[in-house]
Amino acid sequence: MSSAPWSLHLLSEVLAAFTVESPTALRDVVTRVGEAVDAEVMAILQDGEYELCSGLSQQEKPALLAIAATAATELTLDSGLLHLFWAPLNNRELLVVGRFREGFNLEERALLRGMGRCIQLSTKVLAAVKAEQEALRAEQVAKEQAIREATCDHLTGLPNRRLLLAHLAERLAALAPSGRHTAVLFIDLDRFKQINDLHGHPAGDEVLRQVGQRLSALVREGDLVGRISGDEFVVVAEVREQADALALAGRILEQLHLPLQVQGRGLPSSGSIGIALAEAGDDPETLLANADLAMYSVKQQGLGGFACFDASLREQLQERARIEEELRAALAAGQIKAWFQPIISAVHGTVVGFEALARWQHPQRGLLLPAVFITIAEEAGLLRDLDAAVLKDACLQICRWSGARDGLLPRLSVNISATSLADPLLSMRIREVLTSSGFPGNQLFLEITETTLVEDVASAFTNIAEIKSLGIRLAVDDFGTGYSSLRYLRRFPVGILKIDRSFVDGLGHDPEDEVIVETVIRMARSLGIEVVAEGVETLKQGEILRRLGCHYLQGFLYGRPADEASSAELYAASIAGILGVSLQAT
Ligand code: C2E
Ligand code: MG
Ligand code: MG
Repeated sequence: MSSAPWSLHLLSEVLAAFTVESPTALRDVVTRVGEAVDAEVMAILQDGEYELCSGLSQQEKPALLAIAATAATELTLDSGLLHLFWAPLNNRELLVVGRFREGFNLEERALLRGMGRCIQLSTKVLAAVKAEQEALRAEQVAKEQAIREATCDHLTGLPNRRLLLAHLAERLAALAPSGRHTAVLFIDLDRFKQINDLHGHPAGDEVLRQVGQRLSALVREGDLVGRISGDEFVVVAEVREQADALALAGRILEQLHLPLQVQGRGLPSSGSIGIALAEAGDDPETLLANADLAMYSVKQQGLGGFACFDASLREQLQERARIEEELRAALAAGQIKAWFQPIISAVHGTVVGFEALARWQHPQRGLLLPAVFITIAEEAGLLRDLDAAVLKDACLQICRWSGARDGLLPRLSVNISATSLADPLLSMRIREVLTSSGFPGNQLFLEITETTLVEDVASAFTNIAEIKSLGIRLAVDDFGTGYSSLRYLRRFPVGILKIDRSFVDGLGHDPEDEVIVETVIRMARSLGIEVVAEGVETLKQGEILRRLGCHYLQGFLYGRPADEASSAELYAASIAGILGVSLQAT
């Protein structure tokens, strides 16, 4: 036979076989090589085992394996003398070609050796190509992963702020021709911090994941749900008109109000939603900021609703920012003052103490009430300073008047916010004020609202203990509006309960209110706690409260909050016995 064209043909087959990535390619080529030299025995050995073996019986096979290491060219078997040719294919595999008939001639051996080399080379090339492909694939995976990480929120798998804004930009660009609107719904979970604080971060994470799933299940195909930070989610939806966006917000709220199953318990959930509809020329950042503003306005009016953005919101916000700035300056300039509202003995009608109430003497706007600035102070992180300013001013003022009254000091109640209570410096600040003013701790009451008592006092144990050691007691403000239990009242140094004005309001015409007030008074008395009724406006209310055993009365009937001079005068008159307020209706 003429081997040259034939071997060229085979060579091309070998090369072709190795360009396709097929695990059987090598086997096919080897078979073809065997056929080309009329081999009767064909085997591939790998690590002392047969990979492939044809032409030998089961009994004969071990004999071939046994001589693999010697690479002998002849093997005597029962069926005759087997002529062998060995060619390494790669560093693990060895090709053996055998023929009983006759040994391989020079030409055949050259062909076999050539093919062996060719296969070796091809395997090497293939390995290099494979490695290259592998590296490319890994690079691609890493790239995709990096993109995912940069655009997706790892916790929920939802698009993050960046992707969301990019998507929004695309939508806005396509807005005009479609004739539809793009609505951005900014969703903020209510009281999420509380979930984290009470149940731990894993529970918080689970809440976020489930909310993400609920939102994703709710929107239509083509709409987008993203999580842009903490407990803030955003939905970008195509709508025909504003009403559609409102309806979607309603559906989202409904879903959010279903309790979440987290770590085996049902957690309440709710959210506040701000909506902004895109207008021609809007940019994504502004749209998101507008939706955020609208959400914020919902939070300010109480939680768990939705609102649409309109331009007046921005003005309100600017006004708020102005107040915040001025408040900061006012605190530094000492414009925040303590005014005083008298607290009257229900038995004697005399002034036994005062509640200090913050007033802002604004140079242009005049006297401002807490309703204007307390929430802003809280959100701006200024409430601690405000509380401290009022406490200090109140103690200094009250010592000034009573200095002239032979040290007959009235009690003083000062409002303390949850933030102040959590301030590690609180007791130190108070101690300083007491020392510098000379006001005695055992005449001082810190008013905290019932909600603060329940939600924040537990984490302020050290403060409470130190406050107690100064002789200071707590007064629970707005009692009846929260959900405290007897346990709280006993656990902390509560000296006074202040019955909320809303219950006092009903006295005389709402029998239910009377029952509530009576029960509170009886309960407080049994615990050795005194009761102040807030917001007493009529003699009738005062009379009922006295009959029910309330210790002290506070309200416009006995005196509105007043400045230093008027309060000092009122107190002086009360001590002198000139003023015993009338406790009975005439
Ligand atoms: P609060 O501590 O419950 O104070 C009682 C509020 O009820 C005062 O309002 C007082 O003027 C008002 N009030 C008293 N008697 C009557 C009445 O007979 N009828 C009516 N309608 N209202 C009456 P004000 O001074 O506007 O303070 C509002 C709230 O602002 C306070 O409620 C308190 O929660 C907060 N606040 C005031 N000063 C401070 C402060 O220095 N620090 C903190 N953290 N909060 C303060
Ligand atoms: Mg108060
Ligand atoms: Mg109150």
